[in-house]
Amino acid sequence: MKTLDQIAAELQGYDPQALSAHTVNGFLAQLVPLPTQSEEVPLMQALGRVLAQTVVSPIDVPPHDNSAMDGYAFDGQALQIDTPLQLTVVGTALAGAAYQGAVATGQCIKIMTGAVMPAGLDTVVPQELVQTSGAQITIPAGVLRAGDNRRARGEDLQQGNTALAAGSVLAPASLGLLASLGLPTVRVWRRLRVAYFSTGDEILSLGQAPREGAVFDSNRYTVWGMLQRMGMECIDLGVVPDEPVALEAAFRSAAALADAIVTSAGVSVGEADHTKAMMRKIAQRDTPGEGGVVFWRIAMRPGRPMAVGRVGRVPLFGLPGNPVAVMVTFLAFVRPALWRMAGANAQDPAISPPLLKARSTQAIRKKPGRTEYQRAIVSPDAQGHLCVETTGDQGSGVLSSMVRANGLLVLHHDQGKVSPGDVVDVMVFAGVM
Ligand code: AMP
Ligand code: MG
Repeated sequence: MKTLDQIAAELQGYDPQALSAHTVNGFLAQLVPLPTQSEEVPLMQALGRVLAQTVVSPIDVPPHDNSAMDGYAFDGQALQIDTPLQLTVVGTALAGAAYQGAVATGQCIKIMTGAVMPAGLDTVVPQELVQTSGAQITIPAGVLRAGDNRRARGEDLQQGNTALAAGSVLAPASLGLLASLGLPTVRVWRRLRVAYFSTGDEILSLGQAPREGAVFDSNRYTVWGMLQRMGMECIDLGVVPDEPVALEAAFRSAAALADAIVTSAGVSVGEADHTKAMMRKIAQRDTPGEGGVVFWRIAMRPGRPMAVGRVGRVPLFGLPGNPVAVMVTFLAFVRPALWRMAGANAQDPAISPPLLKARSTQAIRKKPGRTEYQRAIVSPDAQGHLCVETTGDQGSGVLSSMVRANGLLVLHHDQGKVSPGDVVDVMVFAGVM
């Protein structure tokens, strides 16, 4: 395992006092370990879990050529003539009850959707296209081509081919796909256990009596919610005061219980509190090589200060204190790092909402040299084109504007000011956080 210093030394442009958001992700990708423990679970316990091994299809899906329509199956060669086609119906095939006899030239069978296509037949005419008269059907000329309305064996999945790659985050469609292969269970990585706590003498747990200068703890609720959305196992360690003994105990139990630790507050620059000193002490003492913590100033807004390290071998994400900064740094940095620890492929669609292009309805001031995430409402205009509007007060403590937002307007490191009508990047986070 690389030490923090080794990771830093290999990163281009590593400056703890002015880190780009991009460099932070590069650092975290090296800091966090990949999963080692997997388990076999029934499909209905596998939603949102990460596939631990590539699934190779044991069968063809569908397992036989079958009809895509309710209609009549026949040999498509008969369509070579340009006149209406007359065929005699000699039997019926139902889904699950194949037609067993032979079908000669000039004959057809009645067939239902999903029924096996008898050997030699390759075309189905939908029943609404034919005229029937007793056992005779007539297919008008020009309504069909040979091969129409037949689903080929293996057109979805072929035996021996990759059905799902290791590292896929299992979505409802993936579960259905595994079921279509007849697989009742699937091997997934163990769920990640994440311990989290809030720090600060002024932070009240819910239910505590308000007092002068104190605020209720909102960070533990946003962090819990974001971890839940990722399907992580959450270990809530409450609010910890800025007090060395309590902080030390919290870090120790977090490291003993969890695969990763998320804290908030106490990492600002020039702060006269114990969190930073305690983080450094705990992180370094037991396992000097692996543990440790670095304090960063990230060139971003909101969320400038952040601490990152390991307590023993357990990664620590020390987020800022301000409630919106917590959510934005979690989305930008912690989420991808935790998904990596959970075994997910970096390109998996579950990991980050994609950046979309939208037209800004307003002017936005921005200096190159930092990444800004502005809370925003992304919506279609009258023509259906995406446009974006910020949600007013962007103060890093203003959680109400986060509630009103459905996404973030992302102004990249080197980007300058935005004029009305400019196209900008947006990340829609509804459903993610
Ligand atoms: P700090 O990083 O400790 O300087 O905290 C920055 C700001 O975030 C301060 O105004 C804190 O009161 C506030 N804050 C810190 N932790 C929380 C929390 N858990 N819930 C709400 N606000 C918090
Ligand atoms: Mg504080």
